[in-house]
Amino acid sequence: MAKRVLILPGDGIGPEVMAQVRRLLDRIGGFSIDEGLVGGAAYDAHGTPLHDDTLAEALKADAVLLGAVGGPKWDTLPFADKPERGLLRLRKDMDLFANLRPALVFDALAGASTLKTDLVRGLDIMIVRELTGGVYFGEPRGIEALPNGERRGVNTQVYTTSEIVRVARVAFELARKRDRRVCSVEKANVMESGLLWREEVQTLHDADYADVALSHMYADNCAMQLVRQPKQFDVIVTDNLFGDLLSDCAAMLTGSLGMLPSASLGAEDADGRRKALYEPVHGSAPDIAGRDKANPMACILSASMMLRYSFDRTAEADLIDRACQEVLNAGIRTGDIVEPGMTPVGTVAMGDAVLAAMDRLSGA
Ligand code: NAD
Repeated sequence: MAKRVLILPGDGIGPEVMAQVRRLLDRIGGFSIDEGLVGGAAYDAHGTPLHDDTLAEALKADAVLLGAVGGPKWDTLPFADKPERGLLRLRKDMDLFANLRPALVFDALAGASTLKTDLVRGLDIMIVRELTGGVYFGEPRGIEALPNGERRGVNTQVYTTSEIVRVARVAFELARKRDRRVCSVEKANVMESGLLWREEVQTLHDADYADVALSHMYADNCAMQLVRQPKQFDVIVTDNLFGDLLSDCAAMLTGSLGMLPSASLGAEDADGRRKALYEPVHGSAPDIAGRDKANPMACILSASMMLRYSFDRTAEADLIDRACQEVLNAGIRTGDIVEPGMTPVGTVAMGDAVLAAMDRLSGA
């Protein structure tokens, strides 16, 4: 049966990059695709950044692919109407607790990293960040006035066994499809929640994943190691706060925002189906929107993650990844990743090139 994919292009460059993904999915086939509005586009049409009907569609879909939301047009809206609230509601109501951020360096772009080329060439890390718990959501929280006239701000870092185990399980399962190594990251030396994290991850490993090599690392050391010797890592699993920082740090090892995909996964239901949202890491890039300048690869690679992790269509995912690699090797680049001596191409031409490379590689 055709897999149901809900596409939410969003704002700014979102619709431009998603148009290229749509061509590619149509070529691969096997999907029943619906499109909807999110972010500023949804606000303009319905007065809300995520309509209830769109949310219901997302909850029914086998996977959701999102472009980007936001832009200056909606910057002055009240907090609850801002485009970003649409995305946050989607993530929350789909209960997406595991955020997957690959940091992958394509050979042709190794020179674009701010680190030495040798350190990042061939880099392939997967950071799994817990997304719905920890200090961003813990109670009590707030700012209170103290009797002495000072103010006091409080946030609470809190994790339960089940919250830790479900995200660690995602990391171990991913590692089994990769190099079978997981590094669990916390601050067990100074935080009880970190100590619990370490113990629960170790217990799960010993019970169910002894075939995967598990190591533990303090978050501050991990930040150092990511810029010192990033290739030592395979899968990193960590909490919401540390994952926020470390995934951005790892992303920058790869050079350009226009190349970074992501996935957010929820729990498996009785049929083994996981709620899943795939989206590029970049935003709506209002500075280049509508000018055929955006790099569609982050969105294309997000679609490849969808094929790999939601639909087990590994051959097609590999084909897309290899096609992107070939296009980059051939020196076909959008403005964000262009090198001296190359002429930048537009969004549509980049989509053309990826499709042509897929045809060549598959002998079509
Ligand atoms: P941004 O990611 O949109 O852009 C940062 C810079 O990177 C810009 O110079 C942009 O031109 C460039 N860039 C981004 N994606 C690119 C691509 N695919 N190809 C070529 N260049 C690309 O971040 P920003 O400027 O801080 O935010 C712009 C808007 O996007 C804001 O409204 C912000 O709230 C929103 N935003 C949305 C998301 C999301 O939808 N997930 C994420 C971040 C920011």
